[in-house]
Amino acid sequence: MKEHKTIQVKEKTFVISIPESELQEQIKRVAAEISRDYAGCQPVFLAVLNGSFIFAADLLREIDLHCEISFVKLASYEGTKTTGSVREVIGLNVDITGRPVIIVEDIVDTGLTMAHMLDTLKAQNPASIDICTLLLKPSKLQVKLDIRYCCKEIPDDFVVGYGLDYDGFGRNTKDIYTIIK
Ligand code: 5GP
Repeated sequence: MKEHKTIQVKEKTFVISIPESELQEQIKRVAAEISRDYAGCQPVFLAVLNGSFIFAADLLREIDLHCEISFVKLASYEGTKTTGSVREVIGLNVDITGRPVIIVEDIVDTGLTMAHMLDTLKAQNPASIDICTLLLKPSKLQVKLDIRYCCKEIPDDFVVGYGLDYDGFGRNTKDIYTIIK
C-alpha cells in the first residue's frame, strides 16, 4: 500500500508512527547482531504467524548465516485487547532438539504468548532459545522475559501495519501506524 499519514482500518483511525526507513534500519541492526552472535552456528528461526510474516521476510534476508526458517501459529489476541488466553503452538514441523532456536515475533505486549511458547519449545530440548521481536511494549509486560533482540520499544498504544492487523485488516502497509480513535 502507498504511504499515507493516516489510515482507516474498519472503524478505527491510525496515524503513521514508525516509517519504513526506520523499520528497515532497526531490522538491519538486529540482523547484524544475530549474525555476529550466532557466527558458526546454524540456527532455526521460528516465525510466529500471522503477524510476523513481513518482519521475518525482511529480517531473514539480512541474516548472514546458514540457517533454516519454519513457521508456527498461535493466537492470543482479538480486537484491541489481549484476551489473556493463549492457544496451542501449531505447525512446528522441524526437529529443534539440540538446535539453537530464534523465535521471530511481531510484538510482545503482556509477554504471555512468548512465555507460553518458550515453555512449549523447551520441552523439545533445543540447544538454546532467543526471542527476536520487532516491537516491544515494556510498560505492558506481565512476566519476566529475556528479550535478546528487539527492533523498537513502543508506548502502550495499539498499532497496525507491516504485518500487524486490526481484526484481520491493515497488515499490508510498509509503515507502522498507531491508533488515534
Ligand atoms: P502478548 O501475549 O504479549 O500480550 O501478546 C502478543 C500478541 O498480541 C502479538 O503477537 C500480537 O498478535 C498481539 N498484539 C499485542 N499488541 C498488539 C498491537 O498493538 N497491535 C496488534 N496488531 N497486535 C498486538
